[in-house]
Amino acid sequence: MDNKMKAVVKTQRGYNNIELLDVDIPKCMDDEVLINVKAIGVCGTDYHIYTDEYDTVPPLIIGHEFSGVIAEVGKNVTNFNIGDRVISELSVESCGTCRYCKTGNPQICLDKKAPGTHINGIYAEYINMPANLVHKLTDNISFEEAAVIEPAAIVAHSFLQRTKIEPEDFVVVIGPGSIGLLAMQMAKIYGARKVAIIGMEADKKRLQIAEKLGCDYVINASEEDPLAIIDKLTNGLGADLVVECSGSAGGINSGINMLRKQGRMCVIGIPGPEKIQVEWKKAVIKALDLVCTFSSSPLSWNWVISMLDRKALDLNSLISHKEPLEKWEYVFEETAKGNVVKAVLLP
Ligand SMILES: [Zn+2]
Ligand SMILES: [Zn+2]
Repeated sequence: MDNKMKAVVKTQRGYNNIELLDVDIPKCMDDEVLINVKAIGVCGTDYHIYTDEYDTVPPLIIGHEFSGVIAEVGKNVTNFNIGDRVISELSVESCGTCRYCKTGNPQICLDKKAPGTHINGIYAEYINMPANLVHKLTDNISFEEAAVIEPAAIVAHSFLQRTKIEPEDFVVVIGPGSIGLLAMQMAKIYGARKVAIIGMEADKKRLQIAEKLGCDYVINASEEDPLAIIDKLTNGLGADLVVECSGSAGGINSGINMLRKQGRMCVIGIPGPEKIQVEWKKAVIKALDLVCTFSSSPLSWNWVISMLDRKALDLNSLISHKEPLEKWEYVFEETAKGNVVKAVLLP
């Protein structure tokens, strides 16, 4: 194996400052596997690293969503072989002994280092990963689908594990990006009575995908009043569960307004750096459960692999762009124009 590989590197803070470089292939340590990357998911985080709105510690290889094939196995690793098709969780250097690790949440361990923001990520041909974070893929999951498992695991963790959908819930998803489209599908899979999704005129393409994926009510808030529609659809009671994926004050407040008393909000969307105004009093008086969530637990990765294996979840419909790794900048430009639902880069 030639010891150099192509990688997309953020060289220093500031707008863009990203280059395709030849770098050393990482060494496979005793407890690790070296993975030949086959597909890379382009995350909103990567785009915000490009625009420099996300904190990073350059120089580093960006990216964190991927799938691949094992190219080398560390000498302490017994449960993987060269050639295994895999994906990997991202809780690198989680301690294994703190309260969060002990309760199955290494993703919020204080020692954790995130690939693509704190340490080298995966916009590259190879990455080394601790073997205890790696999951095998079944044969009927493609590399492209597998590259989108990480965001799906975020949704499974926040929506199924933390907030918990209940039987016959009327669910409203606010924000039809890839996270919202995943939440909409999981609401259908896990027992929602009806699911509505709300977006704006700029989301037209995403709203069409929601419709194609079987969403019961697709609402364009630039044209119609979502509050009035949800009120009517729930006979004046309000929604049981809102999944907030927009991170905007408008989205959060319309969620608070459209929930019934004792309704639940699953908060996944991350607001920008500015403080936002939230109708807190209304949330208190309605006795709402507001569940904020972040990242994905190990269990949620198992769940998503199982959903994909039994073809319950459609990730292919979210993939709007497939491009070679060299075209990373084109994909970010497309993202800036609002044309991307989910992009996959192929090294
Ligand atoms: Zn991501
Ligand atoms: Zn820990």
